[in-house]
Amino acid sequence: MSNYKLGPDFAKQLDKEDPLAHFKNQFHIPKDKNGNELIYLCGNSLGLQPKITKDYINQELEDWANLGVEGHTEGKNPWLHYHEFLTETMAEVVGAKPIEVVVMNTLTANLHFMMVSFYKPTQKRYKILIEADAFPSDKYAVESQLRHHGFDDTEGLILWKAREGEELANYEDLESILETQGEDIALVMIGGVNYYTGQFFDLKRIANLGHKKGCVVGFDCAHGAGNVALNLHDSGADFAVWCTYKYMNSGPGSLSGCFVHERHANNKSLNRFTGWWSHNKQTRFRMRDEFDQLPGAEGWQLSNPPILSMAAIRASVNVFKAAGFDNLIKKSKKLTGYFEFLINALNNPDIKIITPSNPNERGCQLSIQVKNADRGLHNKLTEAGVISDWREPDVIRCAPVPLYNSFEDVYDMVEKLKTVLNE
Ligand SMILES: *Cc1c(COP(=O)(O)O)cnc(C)c1O
Repeated sequence: MSNYKLGPDFAKQLDKEDPLAHFKNQFHIPKDKNGNELIYLCGNSLGLQPKITKDYINQELEDWANLGVEGHTEGKNPWLHYHEFLTETMAEVVGAKPIEVVVMNTLTANLHFMMVSFYKPTQKRYKILIEADAFPSDKYAVESQLRHHGFDDTEGLILWKAREGEELANYEDLESILETQGEDIALVMIGGVNYYTGQFFDLKRIANLGHKKGCVVGFDCAHGAGNVALNLHDSGADFAVWCTYKYMNSGPGSLSGCFVHERHANNKSLNRFTGWWSHNKQTRFRMRDEFDQLPGAEGWQLSNPPILSMAAIRASVNVFKAAGFDNLIKKSKKLTGYFEFLINALNNPDIKIITPSNPNERGCQLSIQVKNADRGLHNKLTEAGVISDWREPDVIRCAPVPLYNSFEDVYDMVEKLKTVLNE
């Protein structure tokens, strides 16, 4: 993308031409001690709060105050059905059919519930394949599943590693692992977008490779949901999970989304953990009936969900709907491409972007490696008003989010980085 230009005027021009620029105003932007807006590039860790979120939560507090238990049926948004208000837009954001998606529980909990159904080890085929730099929680979760089924958690775990001296995982290596060990692997569980490198994996390709060898394939899309076009249905994955507090802007520790492919929607023979919310909605409150499984992803719910957290998700998915997900992806590619252009224009031999340069193999995040840097660099950036994310040993992760970051944010960040590096 060589049609980017240097200088502050170009950033201003891009903002002026940006049809989504006004969305920044719909978010609370954190400020420094003097009341100046910070440059917030940490949406990969905790997304910012839409200004409408308070109203959505207040509505439910009001109904609870005024109606008590009747809010389940008489509330403006009856709590009994509340999760259904999220399904359609959430399905759009992750590229799935409504029957494949439900919001429930928290992320690592959902990963375990999915493995209860989809990790079916036998003495012959029990191994789990993950990417080498998987998010720690995912690694701990799959290791504990191995132990839970009586297997060794080191021997049973196969890592898809980047090659010596490289940062990104290579599909040929995945192919050769599956070629040589595929018949030992029960589950392939990959982070859809790697949290460290920002590499957006080809989900369909991985699902095909795994399925060809008879493995179940699932994805943790915590860094993908709301950030890239996941196309979960078309990927053919068996299941996927994601959180809603990163790019989905639904608040700290908020609930998780869960995808179960349509082909499993009516499969009652799949083992699963159930509760009253997995039971037929029509007869749920007769209480004494035999268990009657709901079809689709909803059939994996256990509990009646926390409405206040769901209200925040509802506010957030409505912002996505208003912006249009395709528009967001389009801006995201332009914004991150501009960021990459400015970083490369620094011509600093100590700086290397480890995130793929192909816009289709990444989301908005760039992981910037700074040779010989330590946490001090990150602290200086923070003091200069840039909120980014430091990963040992030497990587700054920055995620310009198309909903609330501007081209000027990106320009200012790189200027500040330049200053800090020269100190
Ligand atoms: C953020 C993140 C988590 C965090 O899990 P929680 O259960 O929400 O605490 C797990 N896995 C991945 C890949 C993540 O990005």
